[in-house]
Amino acid sequence: MKLPGPNDVAALAAGQLPDARGRFGPFGGRYIPETLVAAIERLEAGARAALADPSFQAELGAELRSWVGRPTPLSHAPRLSEAWGADVWLKREDLAHTGAHKINNALGQAMIAKRMGATRIVAETGAGQHGVASAAACARLGLHCIVYMGAVDVERQAPNVRRMKLFGAEVIPVTGGDATLRAAIDEALRDWVSDPAGTFYLLGSAVGPHPYPWLVRELQAVIGLEARGQMLEMAGGLPDVAIACVGGGSNAIGLFHPFVGDESVELLGIEAGGSGNGLGEHAATLAYGTPGVLHGTMSYLIQNTDGQVIETHSVSAGLDYPGVGPEHAFLHATGRATYLAATDAEALDALQEVCRLEGILPAIETAHAFHGARRWAAENPGKRILIGCSGRGDKDLDILAKQGVAS
Ligand SMILES: *Cc1c(COP(=O)(O)O)cnc(C)c1O
Repeated sequence: MKLPGPNDVAALAAGQLPDARGRFGPFGGRYIPETLVAAIERLEAGARAALADPSFQAELGAELRSWVGRPTPLSHAPRLSEAWGADVWLKREDLAHTGAHKINNALGQAMIAKRMGATRIVAETGAGQHGVASAAACARLGLHCIVYMGAVDVERQAPNVRRMKLFGAEVIPVTGGDATLRAAIDEALRDWVSDPAGTFYLLGSAVGPHPYPWLVRELQAVIGLEARGQMLEMAGGLPDVAIACVGGGSNAIGLFHPFVGDESVELLGIEAGGSGNGLGEHAATLAYGTPGVLHGTMSYLIQNTDGQVIETHSVSAGLDYPGVGPEHAFLHATGRATYLAATDAEALDALQEVCRLEGILPAIETAHAFHGARRWAAENPGKRILIGCSGRGDKDLDILAKQGVAS
């Protein structure tokens, strides 16, 4: 994870790092109140110093190996390959500790927080997966973890609330606003502003004001770095396409980043197409949304013609967010990456195919990427496909039963 210098113009042109103001082309930046500026600047300085410090990188690398279980395997998928008429490879983030890629970011940010002298970590969570990863990382490092979670989500995601509490985290239900993820983010920010020196805001995806989209990308790029080396070694060459699901965009940007400079590698992000392409029916921000500002960053949004952010729908809680990371907005606008939607029904169908043919139960989020890969394979026969297997689906068994899958 080498940090490029600020004058690395070639990398900037390729969209590989934000400019001095944290922008990816017109996207990104900082749209924040005055009260947050000092805390954000302190965070950026602390994060840059940590990532540029070889001893920090060595410590992070050791924790990723011995506690997270990295490198995660690259698995060939022989039966999916046969069914789709393609050569299919899976980057197995589902085998990382706590069951998904989120731990890469949570551990990295928690280690930066500790290095900066913070004693309190605040995090927000929707479905609870980022809350669980943050709570686990904080337990490992001896940090006090406070997780803000919408009251509605606390009810809906009771098992994850229990996991967080087992790891010693304090879970605070948020009853204001929509009582879901957006309200939880507002509360976490309010907490951070009230104690910016002692508190660290551990953000869960490649969204929010600069430096978060860059920082989360740097911490998740381990996925693509490992996968690129593993493909060269095991598959005999680079993939023709790398495919990942996109909620806020952290697992996808982590997989894509090391391939951005490889012109022969197509990049394909799959968003939540929900039940249809009407406003309120999906969470496919790049496929159907328009540019705007949300949670401190300029990107694409799902909004009405008055600029009101619209509530989204997806069968997968982890993709159910009305924004998307600014670097994805940039890759979309420049055409370097393509973003398509998979519907609830398509994702659930792909999930069952992966279970039956490969003995892997993917998260419903991840199943969106599998559907996108299946469709891409049908249009591009005989190609080498790399799929980011972002997480495991054990957490989704109740939802699957409710959806009439394997009930
Ligand atoms: C949270 C989550 C996602 C979506 O988040 P990104 O930041 O877009 O990666 C995708 N897959 C799994 C398994 C998740 O837990």
